Amino acid sequence: MTEDTLNPKTPWQDLTIGGNIYTAGNAKEFKTGDWRSVKPIFKSELCKQCGLCFPVCPDDAIPVNKDLKREDFDYDACKGCGVCAKVCPFKAIVME
Ligand code: SF4
Ligand code: SF4
Repeated sequence: MTEDTLNPKTPWQDLTIGGNIYTAGNAKEFKTGDWRSVKPIFKSELCKQCGLCFPVCPDDAIPVNKDLKREDFDYDACKGCGVCAKVCPFKAIVME
């Protein structure tokens, strides 16, 4: 595997120098999930749909459906910061 094939969606040539972000609200333009070293796991059986987690995600990586219920993580965008796991009062998100 070469550096060109590590992530065919975002080849290294398309990254900014130092991984800098120059404009706000552009997370969708990058596969920021590649930055992650730990990932949140959604335990749907424990989720009460309280709605505390998705507003705090800095990468809009917790999809909400038309019934205003959260769905599983968008791992292309999730950076693994762990904020969602911190705010969940029902331990429905664990970091692995
Ligand atoms: S770990 Fe961070 S980036 Fe990932 S879904 Fe949770 S709050 Fe969003
Ligand atoms: S904070 Fe926890 S219980 Fe509330 S919606 Fe998110 S995962 Fe579900």
